Amino acid sequence: MPIDIQKVRADFPILSHTVYKRPLIYFDNAATTQKPLQVIKAISDYYENDNCNIHRGVHYLSMKATEAFEEARKEIREFINAPSTHEVVFTKGASESLNLVAASFGKKFLKPGDEVVTTIMEHHSNFVPWQIICEEKGAVLRVANILADGDLDTRHLYSLISEKTKIIALTHVSNVLGTINPLKEIIAHAHRMGVPVLVDGAQGVAHAKVDVSDLDCDFYCFSGHKMYGPMGIGVLYGKEKWLEELPPYQSGGEMVKDVRIERTTFNELPFKFEAGTPNVEGVTGLRAAVQYLKNIGMEEISLYEDRLLKRAVEGLSSISDMRFYGTAPEKASLVSFLIGDIHPFDAGTIIDKMGIAVRTGHHCAQPLIDHFGIPGTVRASFAFYNTADEIDRLTEAVSRVKRMFA
Ligand code: PLP
Repeated sequence: MPIDIQKVRADFPILSHTVYKRPLIYFDNAATTQKPLQVIKAISDYYENDNCNIHRGVHYLSMKATEAFEEARKEIREFINAPSTHEVVFTKGASESLNLVAASFGKKFLKPGDEVVTTIMEHHSNFVPWQIICEEKGAVLRVANILADGDLDTRHLYSLISEKTKIIALTHVSNVLGTINPLKEIIAHAHRMGVPVLVDGAQGVAHAKVDVSDLDCDFYCFSGHKMYGPMGIGVLYGKEKWLEELPPYQSGGEMVKDVRIERTTFNELPFKFEAGTPNVEGVTGLRAAVQYLKNIGMEEISLYEDRLLKRAVEGLSSISDMRFYGTAPEKASLVSFLIGDIHPFDAGTIIDKMGIAVRTGHHCAQPLIDHFGIPGTVRASFAFYNTADEIDRLTEAVSRVKRMFA
């Protein structure tokens, strides 16, 4: 069923706010999405009715909270079509999931002279952890280029893969360019070379159906807050064979089976990677977000957001001197641009005064911004609760900025 935009918008209380006496237009969805009432209510219901520490209690409340927590894991397994709940680890976000894999994988598998392959379009969260572990282990980080339109240069990527390559770490969708990487093709190629692939799905999971079994990726990481869920919760999907092999990332309660003065044995998956009291509130909210997305339908969301993107590109392209960054044919619903030589901070500040929230700067992807030799971009990123009218307001706002600086 097509998206009923009025009904959807009524679910997001913040969208009816005004800023500077104008209706808020929220185009910073790639940084974080807004939350529907269903998510907000699930969190307050949890604290009103179920709050308790989980897994360790034999009393009623603890068992109830544990059951809800594990039901959420099942729902998230199904949402990404992971083969098993053992492969769904709760973390505090994509960054923690990525750090976990880099640290644990690196500790176990990297040695001097080995190589890790990544791309220049990575968010710092999928770049710096690999840089750190490579430095620690004497390994080398190899970085694949992009083409002029912001597509990944897969030929360059493939040329970097050799018998020295231990893992490929790349993003599903670029948070600056919007480029959607051809994951299936890359993963199949990497596997033929015997190399596992980690996917940073922070910008992928909210915009189209993700099927980790079909992708055959070895790891897939994402954050709840970029998919209409709460902050402070995220997921690491990892194939069981890898998660079994990786050493624990953090230690403490929950991740242990048996602790003696002499030695400790670790808990089974996924608990081996969930040290300490988990974010039960976050998991509860994430479950509500997944249910919300499923109700709307990921295909409907993709179709709707594609239309918003098309309208934005058409509108903004009609303004002279626009410089777009990321025009790949397979692209998620965001536009990154500069208006002539106007500094992105100046443009963003003026656009904000017109009630429109856009992001400016390097978007935590400095190597990519350096590659373009620019100070940053203005980024407008869209969600299924945005409207065509809001997109037209952005085009008007950008025209106005241009006139002001003329
Ligand atoms: N990866 C990408 C592509 C992102 O866009 C972001 C956040 O913007 C992250 C990773 C990090 O996500 P988080 O800050 O939720 O851990």
